[in-house]
Amino acid sequence: MSILSVVSESLADALALLLPVECAGCDTEDQALCAGCRGALVPRPTRRLLDGGVEVHSALAFEGVAARVIRCLKEDGRTGLATPLGSALRAAVLAAGVTEDAVLVPVPSSRAAMRRRGFAVAPLLIRRAGFRGVTLLAPARATADQRGLDRDARARNVAGSLRVRMGRAARMRDRPIVIVDDVLTTGATLLEAARALRTAGLVVTGAATVAATPRRSSATHR
Ligand SMILES: [Zn+2]
Repeated sequence: MSILSVVSESLADALALLLPVECAGCDTEDQALCAGCRGALVPRPTRRLLDGGVEVHSALAFEGVAARVIRCLKEDGRTGLATPLGSALRAAVLAAGVTEDAVLVPVPSSRAAMRRRGFAVAPLLIRRAGFRGVTLLAPARATADQRGLDRDARARNVAGSLRVRMGRAARMRDRPIVIVDDVLTTGATLLEAARALRTAGLVVTGAATVAATPRRSSATHR
């Protein structure tokens, strides 16, 4: 993680203490996250097996309060929210059955998203979950925003979009890898991450996300 992202995270956290805030979940004034919305972020891990053979554990349903809080983190840069979301992620990572030697690999943000936000979402969530991530994946090319794309278009959009940092990967051979992302939608991004890692000879044992779109949404390809 770069010095710049450390500074921008700390700065955002410091500003959050000074500036008036509204609850990220329900707009109640003067608190970053009210007790009721905090309760909505208590993890209830679920499991989904993707067609590509990747088992994903997710802490929350991506709807209501959880969806709003995740959007506030990602789109409004309210990085303080990574703490409660990281706690939820921790439950998903533990549900994925991580072992002592497991390596948590964050899905990298696209270059465009990094420029827009100034911080990478998945590595921040991993740190707030109390784990150390290993940045093995990097964008291989630009991708379009996945929002608004249907299932097939998402898969095409991300195919071949990630590459493995081979120098680091060499030290991770034979260690179980759990891929980590913020939200599971169609699974296209996680499958692309698994493809890149497996092609590099690494062992992917599963994935964990903070939230997953409820199944009815995946049935309508959203
Ligand atoms: Zn609230």
